[in-house]
Amino acid sequence: MLTRKEFEAAQIRAAELIRASGLVIRSDEAAKIEVADFGLSRLSVEGAQILTWVATDRMAVKIIALTPGQTLPEHWHPRVGDDPGKEETIRVAAGILYCYMDGEPNLRMAAIPDGKENFYTVRHELMMKAGDQITLAPGAKHWFQAGPDGAVVYSFSTVARDILDRFTDPAIERITKIKE
Ligand code: ZN
Repeated sequence: MLTRKEFEAAQIRAAELIRASGLVIRSDEAAKIEVADFGLSRLSVEGAQILTWVATDRMAVKIIALTPGQTLPEHWHPRVGDDPGKEETIRVAAGILYCYMDGEPNLRMAAIPDGKENFYTVRHELMMKAGDQITLAPGAKHWFQAGPDGAVVYSFSTVARDILDRFTDPAIERITKIKE
């Protein structure tokens, strides 16, 4: 749950981060930035701001803006019918992104949110800076944390069905509720 004020402030901050990275977004796009608190009501710790540029039945392009230290919680993109799940390429436009996936645990930089140790299970760390990219296979768990200046990240993918994404933390609700 976010207040209207928190939601609007987060949209403005995200638009600033995106524009500071050099990407051009229109004002009508800035007004459509999704603010996701994942139902946890502590946006600056666990959350994300997401601008959808392309969403067709076959593909999606999104810009994800994370504030300094903000964590996009561990999730994966499950199979849906004949579709093996969303394949996602992440490319950093600005800032530092700590990206976590399955593999040899070498987590050094991110701070797992307090009390959430059980919900951040993949701990192979990749430090990504502007120009770095990685492709995440369908079904592969991943989570991200922004470095000290925040991060702006492109997400290029096959069809996105955000509502069907699965999160390790059972408390997460994908739809953000706004308290007026
Ligand atoms: Zn993902």
